[in-house]
Amino acid sequence: MPADLQHETTELLQRLVRFDTVNPPGNERACQEFLAARLEAAGFEVELLGAVEERPNLVARLRGAADGPVLGLLGHVDTVLAKPQEWRHDPWSGEIADGCLWGRGALDMKGQVAAEVAAAISLAREGWRPQRGELLVISVVDEETGGELGAQWLTETHPDRVRCDYLLNEGGGEVFEYRGRRRYGVCTAEKGVFRFTIATDGVAGHASQPKLGDNALLKLAPLLERLATRQPAYELTEAPAAFLRGLGEDPADPAAAVARLEAADPRLVPLFEPMFGVTLTPTKVSASEKVNVIPSEARLTVDCRVPPGLGEAAVRRAIDAVLGPEEGFRIEFDTGIEGNGSPLGSRLREAINGWIESQDPGAGTVPLILPGFTDSRHFRAAFPDCVAYGFFPQLHQSRFETAPLVHSADERIDVRDLGFAATFYRDVARELLR
Ligand SMILES: [Zn+2]
Repeated sequence: MPADLQHETTELLQRLVRFDTVNPPGNERACQEFLAARLEAAGFEVELLGAVEERPNLVARLRGAADGPVLGLLGHVDTVLAKPQEWRHDPWSGEIADGCLWGRGALDMKGQVAAEVAAAISLAREGWRPQRGELLVISVVDEETGGELGAQWLTETHPDRVRCDYLLNEGGGEVFEYRGRRRYGVCTAEKGVFRFTIATDGVAGHASQPKLGDNALLKLAPLLERLATRQPAYELTEAPAAFLRGLGEDPADPAAAVARLEAADPRLVPLFEPMFGVTLTPTKVSASEKVNVIPSEARLTVDCRVPPGLGEAAVRRAIDAVLGPEEGFRIEFDTGIEGNGSPLGSRLREAINGWIESQDPGAGTVPLILPGFTDSRHFRAAFPDCVAYGFFPQLHQSRFETAPLVHSADERIDVRDLGFAATFYRDVARELLR
């Protein structure tokens, strides 16, 4: 690792954390101008492009000597909120304690932005230019509320500025161990969302005489019970099948594989099982608006996540398997968004694999589907040939440690991983753009 890269990445992340970019409202402009100045000074052509004045997106470009592939390093600088009273260190301090940098966004995802920008700056400053192609650094706003002013806006209104062949974004990269071997997840795909409502009907009445009405809320009880105790059958798509093969498990029998994961380390199952099929999570319930009125209708909202390649038919199969035939209740679908993904094999994947083998001998990578979604979705939609992966390599802080800290109190990152990741972004740019 270049000696000062970890130090420079750490300093950069401290500065980024100290900009309060909680979204809403975001107000990312000051943070983006700070990054723009650093990138410009190193030799990048920088543009700030925004739908609204206070929330510009940043596109920084380093052109090569000849035509070739465009590699984009993507990040978002907005964060979710933080309640300082729940934290051991102020969430906007960027304080270093116990070997970690603390602050909102340290993991999601100012840490990655700092590593990408520090890598890009160090390359440009020392005179490196792509032999072929271009290096892009893209820092967007507004990811945490869906990307309407950020990645979605940028890819739809300025596709020529951000078109890329390879894209690195958030969603994977933390190490985990399975049966004595370290694996790094490469997020190749993201699930879709098909939210729906389960509605039951009854007859209103005065709550003082319960048997005069027909209480719709009580009819939800057996349905909730089924959601608590049953789950849809696994439907393995390409990435989770490759994930299981990568762990030495048999994708033809996912239930047996899950049992072996559970036996090896129970923490693996909640992290990875959602990749293996449709999930149904009840989140909101509503019934009577008055405490003394028996509800004539009750509604239960279910957040349903669907692997890319599967759609509403898979949701119907899951509902049938968990709730049974649609008798005594109604299903109303919200808008559905299908997930998307990139090919598992590519030059980018080879570069990632090669880098991991060189830095962590004996370790390997496995593809992952993210249960939620990221801005990669917008890039894949806008540029169908773009290979977009989530990869922010972390060796010292494992997936078990980082997962509960994202969007939570005491979010922090091991500073050694800032240097580790920045080294990766430097090396991958040199590898792909030569
Ligand atoms: Zn994020």
